[in-house]
Amino acid sequence: MEATHTIKRTCLACGQEGAIRVSRREAAFGLVDIHQILGKQCPNCGANTFSTVQTLVNLDETLLKEWATNEDLHLTPQDEELLLADELYLNLILLALDHFSVVDQKRNILLEALCIIVYDNSLKDNSHKDEALKQRVIKALNERKAQLKLADDWIMDYIKEVVYPQLTLG
Ligand SMILES: [Zn+2]
Repeated sequence: MEATHTIKRTCLACGQEGAIRVSRREAAFGLVDIHQILGKQCPNCGANTFSTVQTLVNLDETLLKEWATNEDLHLTPQDEELLLADELYLNLILLALDHFSVVDQKRNILLEALCIIVYDNSLKDNSHKDEALKQRVIKALNERKAQLKLADDWIMDYIKEVVYPQLTLG
């Protein structure tokens, strides 16, 4: 696969920079360890603490399907549920929940991501609240109560406290 994405690291001791190129898939799933390639120690000063940055991968249906149906693949560089809790991925998440053979743990993460969208758009101090988006996700959750129930133990209590009262769980 074409190496289209860059991962960079900067030595925290001397500032020396290094970079590698990886494919989109390798970047999305964090499959390549930059320190394995460039060495555990800075070639300039020998220190072994670095900051790393990589370009965010926009997930498409192929990548999300592969992730959702394989319990060994993990999205990087953020917490998976936070990365997915984005309007950008709403349609893909619903597609996955309804049409892919999603493994249990990934289903939990997808449901949590939906709850986080509702949570974020319920916070009083969020000045970018999107009520229409929130209502879309609430409707989607109401339509997938059985899946939400299965994810119940996984979803954080502080999220549930804000989100569940807004649903019609009955
Ligand atoms: Zn260094």
